[in-house]
Amino acid sequence: MSKGVSDPGQGSGRSLTVKLKKTAGRSVASQRWLTRQLNDPYVAAAQKQGWRSRAAFKLIELDDRFHVIKKGMRVLDLGAAPGGWTQVALRRGARSVVGIDLLAIEPIPGAHLIKGDATDPACQAQILELLGGPPDLVLSDMAPNTSGHASTDHIRIVALAEMALELAFAMLPPGGSFLAKLFQGGADKHLLTPMKQRFETVRHAKPPASRKESSELYVVATGLRASANPAGEAPHPASD
Ligand code: SAM
Repeated sequence: MSKGVSDPGQGSGRSLTVKLKKTAGRSVASQRWLTRQLNDPYVAAAQKQGWRSRAAFKLIELDDRFHVIKKGMRVLDLGAAPGGWTQVALRRGARSVVGIDLLAIEPIPGAHLIKGDATDPACQAQILELLGGPPDLVLSDMAPNTSGHASTDHIRIVALAEMALELAFAMLPPGGSFLAKLFQGGADKHLLTPMKQRFETVRHAKPPASRKESSELYVVATGLRASANPAGEAPHPASD
C-alpha cells in the first residue's frame, strides 16, 4: 500500500458502470476516451486525493516497490505535464524538482516548471541552475502525440526514450538513478543493454495503474557506475 495513499485498483473491479449516450459531434474515439475516464478508479482517486493525473499512481506504485525517491534528492521530471509525478516527488521528500514539458504546467508549489523541449540541449544548463546542481534521479514519462501511423509513432517513441537515457547519462552523478517509460516492441531491448552496462541494477515493471492494453512499461535503473560519467560529481547525501 502506498504511503498515505489508498490503492484505487484494489477491490474496484474496474467494471464499467457509466455509459454515455451517443452525442452528435463527438467522435467514436473521444466517446470511448470519455467513457473510460468516467469509469476509471484511478481517475476518480486522483481527483479525490489531489493528484494532477492518474499517472501519479504509476510513480507511487513503482516507488513503493523500488524506493527510488529519497529525501533530499534533486529530481528531474521529463514530460511532466500536467504534473502528477512532480507532485509525488515533492510529497516524498525531494528537496528540489524541475519538471519540463512541451505543454505549459500550472504552478506547483516547490517545483520549477519549464515549458520546453526536453530534447533541446539548451535546456540542460537551465535545468542544472534551477535544480541547484545535478539531479540524483531522472524521471521520464515522456510520450509523443500519436500520429495514427504505427511506424512513425514507434520511431518517435524510441527516439524519446533514447533521448531520456542520454540525458540521464549526461547529467546524473555516480550513484544516480533513472526511472523511465519504455514501450515493448524491440526498442526496450536496444535500450536495456547500455543501461545494464552502466547501472548497477536495472529492473522493469508494469505498475497496476498502467492500463493492460497499453504496451508501456517502466524501467528502474539505480546506481550509475562511476566510470559511466567520470565528470559527474559525487551523489548527494540522501536518506529514506
Ligand atoms: N507524468 C505526467 C504526470 O504525472 O502528470 C504525465 C506525462 S504524459 C503521459 C507525457 C508528456 O510527455 C506529455 O505531456 C507530452 O507533452 C510530454 N512530452 C512529449 N515529448 C516531449 C518532449 N520532447 N519534451 C518535453 N515533454 C515532452
